[in-house]
Amino acid sequence: MDIEIPFYEEYKGRIKCKICPHQCIIAEDKFGICRVRTVKANKPFAVNYGEVTSIAVDPIEKKPLYHFKPSRDILSIGSFGCNMTCRFCQNYEISQGKPETQYLNIEKLIDIIKNVENNAGVAFTYNEPFMWYEYMYDAAKSIKKNNEDTSVVVVTNGYINEEPLKKLLPYMDAMNIDLKAYTNRYYNSICGAKLEPVLETIKRCDKHCHVEITTLLVSDENDSLEEARQIAEFIASINENIPLHLSRYFPRYKMENEATKIENIMEAKRVAEKYLKYVYVGNIGGVDNNTYCPRCNELLVERNGYVTNVFINENRCRKCGEEINIVL
Ligand code: SF4
Repeated sequence: MDIEIPFYEEYKGRIKCKICPHQCIIAEDKFGICRVRTVKANKPFAVNYGEVTSIAVDPIEKKPLYHFKPSRDILSIGSFGCNMTCRFCQNYEISQGKPETQYLNIEKLIDIIKNVENNAGVAFTYNEPFMWYEYMYDAAKSIKKNNEDTSVVVVTNGYINEEPLKKLLPYMDAMNIDLKAYTNRYYNSICGAKLEPVLETIKRCDKHCHVEITTLLVSDENDSLEEARQIAEFIASINENIPLHLSRYFPRYKMENEATKIENIMEAKRVAEKYLKYVYVGNIGGVDNNTYCPRCNELLVERNGYVTNVFINENRCRKCGEEINIVL
């Protein structure tokens, strides 16, 4: 379904979209970089309102969110479109293509959320949720009006302008934001974007909701220890309690570099732990991804694959009383 986009201005007979930092100038019947925003009769429209490509119930740890409602499931939905063009995209069929969709109205979405067992709420994920902004905003507002306790989660590349983000944040409970690298070279040449707006989004979101960060470490591109240090130092400058997920890259889509060496990721984890209290690794089996108290090392959350045992009742260590950044 088409819907008028909320942030734009007229620009020399065309439309400048102001949802994300690309600020595409779109001519009649053409699309922006995200392939979902277009202009018809001099009005800007998003063509993916309510159009769902993927819907599933996932463990919340799969998002990944390790410190938000651990051991719960979450209804996860996505549409199509993305404002980045990552060469390693895991979901390129829906981020860069135009797959089949099914329209899901918001009342029906709320019904589905209510009927899933052990469900924390809804996660907007799979494609870039900010490219589904119009639907996500309306849905999040209605979900919160219906039941304030239903969590709204966003798994995002963080490439959004300040104004639309500010409008959305009051309805968000948690976000996993990709910090794909710490250089403009990487963002430009591999993702078709810029670093600075993502850093700004992370700063803004941490003031309003629970935030975790994911960095995919790609061999020979961003897996140096110096870059791991820069990423961890930046996150710690905002909040040393933000969990960081360092994920292993495998060749996919247009990227043919070899899979990242496990020892590089484990070394990057050790470097990041000098700055941050909680650092985890992803896409590597058989490693310790439990949460321990940063003060006394007591086991707080045990994870085996997606089986999670929580040994904490409130957000304090049961042994030493240290405050832990976990939302139960
Ligand atoms: S949301 Fe899409 S059309 Fe709008 S500025 Fe971003 S990429 Fe361009």
